[in-house]
Amino acid sequence: MHTLPLKIWHEFQSVVETLSDETPSRQVLEVILFWIRSNRKHLTGEPFTVYGFDSLAKIDEREIPVEYSSFKVSDLINFKSIVLKRQARDVDSIARFLRDTIEELATVEVDEQCPRCESEGMRAFIGKYNGLLAYQCNVCGYSNYSDGSRVENGGLEFASERQLRELGLI
Ligand SMILES: [Zn+2]
Repeated sequence: MHTLPLKIWHEFQSVVETLSDETPSRQVLEVILFWIRSNRKHLTGEPFTVYGFDSLAKIDEREIPVEYSSFKVSDLINFKSIVLKRQARDVDSIARFLRDTIEELATVEVDEQCPRCESEGMRAFIGKYNGLLAYQCNVCGYSNYSDGSRVENGGLEFASERQLRELGLI
């Protein structure tokens, strides 16, 4: 398992510590992406590959309608407290938490029920290869296309503002 250099993690913590509760969600996303992009050489291998950091680093945040995400002040407060609590050695939980936070910031929630765990509320994504609308469960992570078919591993990407408008989701 890869480790995270202390200095790199502490840098991230000190930036996150300066975010006020009024920080716009878009800026929170930018802070995370900036840190990931500036430290790519430390974020290779497991667990970062498992959580798709390669594709996260490449997203075009200008196309993403962060303002429509479900990320609220309470999520920001929670985000700060978790980042400040984690130690650099908690690499797996850091990687998973940052991936989950980016997904929360970069997707919109839709009124769909998860076919697997029956939780309400799923997130909208787009199929990387077929351009179809897909839903991913907030709770268990199950995903399927809007036509009911299963999503292949790593088959989803964030929907752009234009795509979400065309689909009538924003
Ligand atoms: Zn589920």
